[in-house]
Amino acid sequence: MEQKYCQSCGMLLSEELYGTELSKAKNHEYCIYCYEKGEFKQPDITMEKMIKACVPFMVEKGMT
Ligand SMILES: [Zn+2]
Repeated sequence: MEQKYCQSCGMLLSEELYGTELSKAKNHEYCIYCYEKGEFKQPDITMEKMIKACVPFMVEKGMT
């Protein structure tokens, strides 16, 4: 069986966890927490989290 992961948060997807389109079709690229009824719930959350997590380290190392 092929395993799929959410393209946004990286969660392992299963039949109940697939995102949904407005048409109630399943979206097999994203999980229900990131993508529901044809819309992203938390746009840029991954990027934002990554930036927040990385910036203090970069500052610590003297990077601007
Ligand atoms: Zn997700």
